[in-house]
Amino acid sequence: MKYISTRGKAPALNFEDVLLTGLAPDGGLYVPQTLPTYSPEQIAAWSKLSYAELAFEIVKPFVDGAIPDDDLRDIVNDSYSDFRNSAIAPLVQIDHNEWILELFQGPTLAFKDFALQMLGRLLDYVLERRNQKVVVMGATSGDTGSAAIQGCKRCKNLDIFILHPYQRVSEVQRRQMTTVEGDNIHNIALKGHFDHCQAMVKASFADQSFLPGGRQLVAVNSINWARIMAQIVYYFYSAIALGAPNRKVSFSVPTGNFGDIYAGYLAKQMGLPIDQLVIATNCNDILHRFVSSNRFEKQELQHTLSPSMDIVISSNFERMLFDGYDRDGAAVADLMDRFSREDVSVPDSVFAKVRDLFDSGRVSDDETVATIKEVFETSEYLLDPHSAIGVHAARACWRDRSVPMVTLATAHPAKFPEAVMKAGYPESPALPHHMKDLLSLPERYEVLDNDQAAVQAFMASHINA
Ligand SMILES: *Cc1c(COP(=O)(O)O)cnc(C)c1O
Repeated sequence: MKYISTRGKAPALNFEDVLLTGLAPDGGLYVPQTLPTYSPEQIAAWSKLSYAELAFEIVKPFVDGAIPDDDLRDIVNDSYSDFRNSAIAPLVQIDHNEWILELFQGPTLAFKDFALQMLGRLLDYVLERRNQKVVVMGATSGDTGSAAIQGCKRCKNLDIFILHPYQRVSEVQRRQMTTVEGDNIHNIALKGHFDHCQAMVKASFADQSFLPGGRQLVAVNSINWARIMAQIVYYFYSAIALGAPNRKVSFSVPTGNFGDIYAGYLAKQMGLPIDQLVIATNCNDILHRFVSSNRFEKQELQHTLSPSMDIVISSNFERMLFDGYDRDGAAVADLMDRFSREDVSVPDSVFAKVRDLFDSGRVSDDETVATIKEVFETSEYLLDPHSAIGVHAARACWRDRSVPMVTLATAHPAKFPEAVMKAGYPESPALPHHMKDLLSLPERYEVLDNDQAAVQAFMASHINA
């Protein structure tokens, strides 16, 4: 299987190269040239598979022989071996036909573990075989950094540098990054905002000459295709558990960069009978505004109770638009070029496709808190603020109550005690047992000025030989 850029001008890559890259050289994002599709009979046959067995089946055509089946099976099994619940992605019912898909049973308590546990192992396997070492660099406002560090901590063939905004992530989030042991793990607290961290990473990818000879940077944010691929699995797994392919299922997805729900869209294209896909946003609602009015407009960032969804632009939406434009890369490149200067709309035919595929809802902080409270009162189930946004939007958009509605719970409530306590929960929700000494473990991180030369000098001198 080949991977092509959404802007049509970059050379096609195979799986191994797409794994080791970031953006395409033309500025686009890589997507598979074709998708595997599955008949209802094939999907029905998957109902006997465990999560890891299903993950192997779904990932296999995308890896396309780049890794022998037995090794790929080991990688996938190992990726989910640290999850606390052996169901990996358990479903919990909170009301009639209404379900929560718990995607926070992994080591860092957020759904990003699903992709990053696998990505770290895929990278290490491929690098070992190529006898190559790389440098992983990423910016985080919280969840991505810890999941990437946990995913990469045992990798022998890479150093990982994660930049977080100094004093602007929660203590739990910071400690989930800075208490992980390993010579190859490097945390940088940058004196600035998340945007400064992201700009620093972007500039470093653009000019990698500060790296020692033979090293290159690898991206771990959701522009990396392998992350999307791993996320397709839980849509199939949960829908099959609820009766697919003989029954349709709907999903509501707390959305920031559009990586998670894009995987749901792909699952639908691959044959899973998904009825509705609900884009649930907080006040940073660029996608809700687009789906409502065909206006793609940047707005100032707002800080909310659901910080992992605080974004200005949803980068993965470009992958969706590429399909909307019938895979016309030149048209996408033109749109994105105009969008870098002004607000844009898409042609009616493109907009009609998006409208047909997605519903959307925007949820304020007050509504988030009210939803946490209401769901706790009616089912004693404690939602984190991101998942509460999903539930609120699901209830507002749900067309057919005979179709099960699954809200993806993207984080554990203990990660976001502020919102939970605002909802009247009497105490800070308990961290799972394996994290009980998180608040006493020693931390390691370097505080650096928002200065490119200083950051790159620190990196160059800390990369392991
Ligand atoms: C990253 C994240 C999201 C948003 O996911 P996208 O793929 O960026 O849309 C939602 N909730 C939580 C808890 C997250 O960490």
